[in-house]
Amino acid sequence: MRFEKISPPEEGKKIEYKNGKLIVPDNPIIPYIVGDGIGRDVVPAALDVLNAAAEKIGKEVVWFRIYAGEDAYKMYGTYLPEDTLNAIREYRVAIKGPLTTPVGGGYRSLNVTIRQTLDLYACVRPVYYIDGVPSPLKNPENVDIVIFRENTEDVYAGIEWPKGSKEAISIIEFLSKMGAKIREDSGIGIKPISEYATKRLVRLAIKYAIENGRKSVTLVHKGNIMKYTEGAFRDWGYEVAKEEFPELTITEDELWEKYNGNQPEDKIVIKDRIADNMFQQLLTRTAEYDVLAMPNLNGDYMSDFAAGLVGGLGIAPGSNIGDGMGVFEPVHGSAPKYAGQNKVNPTAEILSGALMFEFLGWKDGAELIKKAIEVTIKSRIVTYDIHRHVGGKLVGTKEFALAVIENMQSL
Ligand code: NAP
Repeated sequence: MRFEKISPPEEGKKIEYKNGKLIVPDNPIIPYIVGDGIGRDVVPAALDVLNAAAEKIGKEVVWFRIYAGEDAYKMYGTYLPEDTLNAIREYRVAIKGPLTTPVGGGYRSLNVTIRQTLDLYACVRPVYYIDGVPSPLKNPENVDIVIFRENTEDVYAGIEWPKGSKEAISIIEFLSKMGAKIREDSGIGIKPISEYATKRLVRLAIKYAIENGRKSVTLVHKGNIMKYTEGAFRDWGYEVAKEEFPELTITEDELWEKYNGNQPEDKIVIKDRIADNMFQQLLTRTAEYDVLAMPNLNGDYMSDFAAGLVGGLGIAPGSNIGDGMGVFEPVHGSAPKYAGQNKVNPTAEILSGALMFEFLGWKDGAELIKKAIEVTIKSRIVTYDIHRHVGGKLVGTKEFALAVIENMQSL
């Protein structure tokens, strides 16, 4: 038996992957995870919107429920069953709600485990302004960036040991022989960053920039301090551009030396910024940034910060992309205090579905969803997170999704 406790739907067809391309039927089977906390509010709402959009473009998603988090624990006695990973492997594209991660102890992040086990090496998060959403910026319409965050390495690789463990003590002893002094009562975490993982991430970011008419790719790093990890990330990033896209990219130096600052239409500028500077640049010189590529930890901070610039976590979608595989999820977490209250904003989950449609090649469906959300928010039908700043008609999660579906019908 392929699966222990779940059965795939009888209708629908599998998405295939051949010669580096996804082959998507008109009625793909797509697994979904409701997840923890507000997952039970936002995921059903998002699926309703996605169904309506698919129908409008003559397609149908055949949903296949799979389990992770608390639901999985009740069914399987484990938070991330093999059934779930196998279903994503087999069906290639999935959408999920948030999953809770305990802080300090307990089990490792299920989200990180899913990304690492399935080698979903790029966390891709577009951040752009939706008219009508309150923003702390004067010109939020200048925010239109796409963050490519490396997903498998860095201090997130999970190579860490607590204070006093035999592993931590032996590493401290080993390093002291190499002249590094580390206090004995230290916890130890390791930060690996490889040429292989850096290059495949930056390659994907550059390809995205080329395919979507973007102007620049900025490598965001702390290479001034962590030279052989973050600094190497920058160097390898420039190398990919030079070796694999020589006709289509120029560096920022070349932009000034060869082109006097006038960017040729057919070239993407590759630049780099130190991460701390990048935060303030996004505030002060917002329009100068476009696609951003960075290691795992920088990307985690930057994603929430960027989401905050355009109205917060309730509207920020995300995706985890590997070769021929994608898992789509909002940037926000499980916000347990709001779970089951039909209160939170489902926009981030819905827009994650729009990203999934783009990944499937259903660009018209994705546009339809984005437009319907814009129209809805602009007409001031909003959930609490937006309502508290600008007022309007306050609705719950379900009602917001219904309004989006209704607005979609007239597009
Ligand atoms: P969070 O769940 O993202 O919630 C933080 C705050 O963001 C909420 O209190 C709320 O702000 C706002 N927010 C989040 N989702 C919203 C939505 N859909 N609509 C409106 N506002 C929303 O972050 P957290 O409290 O730090 O994390 C809770 C759990 O989620 C943790 O276990 C964490 O590890 C996990 N997590 C999971 C993922 C994932 O599954 N990919 C990602 C991040 C975190 P207000 O309180 O101001 O209303």
